[in-house]
Amino acid sequence: MAQLIAERDPLARHVRQLARHEALPHAAILSGTGDRLAAARFIAAALVCRGGDDRPCLRCAACRKAAEDIHPDVRVVRDEDKKELSVEAVRALRQDVYIRPNEAERKVYIFADSDQLNERDQNVLLKIVEEGPPYAAFLFCADTATALLPTIRSRCVELKLRGEDDQEPSEQALALCRVFAGGELLPAVQHLVSLENSRLKREQLQVLLEDAWRVAAEALLLASGKTPQPGPAGDAAAALSRGLSLPRLQKLTDCLRHYAAECRYNVGPGHVLGALCARWEEILA
Ligand SMILES: [Zn+2]
Repeated sequence: MAQLIAERDPLARHVRQLARHEALPHAAILSGTGDRLAAARFIAAALVCRGGDDRPCLRCAACRKAAEDIHPDVRVVRDEDKKELSVEAVRALRQDVYIRPNEAERKVYIFADSDQLNERDQNVLLKIVEEGPPYAAFLFCADTATALLPTIRSRCVELKLRGEDDQEPSEQALALCRVFAGGELLPAVQHLVSLENSRLKREQLQVLLEDAWRVAAEALLLASGKTPQPGPAGDAAAALSRGLSLPRLQKLTDCLRHYAAECRYNVGPGHVLGALCARWEEILA
């Protein structure tokens, strides 16, 4: 399955905000460090989502199709051989854009690598971006915005990805890791119940579990001899690698990743937390 950017990514939050205000751009450049295509799919999902206010809901059929690259109104344009796009491809696109969307209100074109667009292509695209039908949206992925002509740039909003590495896990995630590091059932059950009672939203739980998963993955590296990073995240990872046997740590890491991903699609946070609790009991057994 194709990937979307993580909910914790500031760009994901920004996109949700824009969607809430009906302010998603019809032309954007996705630049910066990280998975730009995953970010573009996230925006495309927000554009075609039928889930209501919080877009992308990541639960409706449209979101799922966008995430899996099978939505008929979301097209990823690229040359698999990393060459320039052919003239024919760009011409075909110029006609395709005037065919109304199949299922969604919008039709989204994702240019996976703007380096594949030469000047001639870009001039053709400029016309479509400027004069194309209002339902069409264009997302250009590029190392830097300068891969595109100034004329195109001036029509686009630039959305930057910041790599995920410089993002510290939240205190909530560290607290959860410290509880797991204790290696006991009851404190973990109490902690998970208190999380459930805090009426966490699904997206917040996803961020929390992704963070906890990253700490657990770091703990696995520590267990195989890596030196801990200074700081609270490093301390929490060190506590996990000291507190749990290697098989338990591996199972915990897998299960955190699993339930973080579940949050993307699954039913309420209560269900995910309950399942996580049951899994923790199995890990300790
Ligand atoms: Zn949706």
